Amino acid sequence: MKRAVVNNSGDMDIYCNSCGRKLKVENGILMEDAFEANKEWGYFSDWDTQIHRFNLCEECYKEITSRFQIPVEVRQKLEVL
Ligand SMILES: [Zn+2]
Repeated sequence: MKRAVVNNSGDMDIYCNSCGRKLKVENGILMEDAFEANKEWGYFSDWDTQIHRFNLCEECYKEITSRFQIPVEVRQKLEVL
């Protein structure tokens, strides 16, 4: 479930949480891909019982993951369902 705000025309507005850019949505369909994070924090964290959610556009995802010491694990999808 993407974080979205319903605008006047009934479309869901989805924003990149990092740069604040509105992602392209037409007729309720997200026309560009985005990274979605959804994390239920547990007992040994500072946010026990909280659920955190955010989206990142492709550009922000690239920028943030490029700073990782260990690169993102990438697997190739063999079939598209
Ligand atoms: Zn962004």
